[in-house]
Amino acid sequence: MIDYDFHTHTTFSHGSGSILDNALAAKQKGLKGIAIADHGFSHPAFGMRRKYLKQMKMECEQAQKQTGVEVFLGIESNLLGLSGKTDLKVEDYSYIDVFLAGIHRFVILDRASDYFKFFGSNFFTSVLKLSPSDKLVKNTTAAYINAIKNNPIDILTHLNFCCYANSLEVAKCLEDYGTYLEINTKKVHLTDEEWQNIVDKTNVNFVIDSDAHSPDRVGDCSLYSDLLSRISIPNKRIHNLCGNKPNLRFSAFKEKNL
Ligand SMILES: [Zn+2]
Ligand SMILES: [Zn+2]
Repeated sequence: MIDYDFHTHTTFSHGSGSILDNALAAKQKGLKGIAIADHGFSHPAFGMRRKYLKQMKMECEQAQKQTGVEVFLGIESNLLGLSGKTDLKVEDYSYIDVFLAGIHRFVILDRASDYFKFFGSNFFTSVLKLSPSDKLVKNTTAAYINAIKNNPIDILTHLNFCCYANSLEVAKCLEDYGTYLEINTKKVHLTDEEWQNIVDKTNVNFVIDSDAHSPDRVGDCSLYSDLLSRISIPNKRIHNLCGNKPNLRFSAFKEKNL
C-alpha cells in the first residue's frame, strides 16, 4: 500500500468526485497524503481552468483540515510540443505544490507543426497499431527530454502511453534531473522489457500513482501488484511506499527562485 497518491482527478477536470471526496477516500484507505492533479489547461474538453486555481487551493486546505490527510494541489500538465514546453506557466507556480507532466492527445499545441512532427504521428501510429518510425521515436524522446530539462517537473506521468519514446533515454534524463518516473496503476504504459531495462540500467526513482478518476480508485495499486509478479523493483527506489516521502524537485525550485 502506498502512503501518498500524487495523481488523482476531480470534477475540476475529468474526475467524478470533489477534492474533499478524494481526501475522504484517502483517509478511509489509510493514506497520509494525496495530490489533486487535474488535467492541464490546454486540454479543451478535460482541462482544468486557470480561474479556479485559487478555489482549488482553498478546497485542498479545507479538505486537509477536515480529514487530517495532507492534500496537495498538483496539476497533470500537458506537453505542448517538441520544445518541451508545458501548459503550466511560471505565474501559476505559487498555487501549485506538485508538478506532474505527461503527453496527452487532443491538446492545443504550441505550434501547428508539432502536430505533424509528433502528436499526429503518435496518434495514428497507436490507433492503427503500426510500428513507430525511428523519426517518431526520436521526436517523442526529444519532447520528453526537453520538458524534463526545461521545467522543474516532479513526476512524469504514464511514460509512453499512446506514444513512442525511447523509454530508457527518458529514464536516464529523469535520473539526472531528479524527476520521478510514475508507475501508473490505471493503465499499462511500458512493456515488461522496458521496465526491466529501466530498473537495471538506470538509478531513476519511482512513485506509484492511481491516476484515479473516481474517489473509489484513490490509492489503488492493483496493477502494480501485477507488475511486481513479473518485474522486481527495489522498494527503496519507490519513494511513496514504506513511510518514504518523495523529495519533490518543484518545491525546492520554488524555494530557491520565487
Ligand atoms: Zn494522463
Ligand atoms: Zn491523469
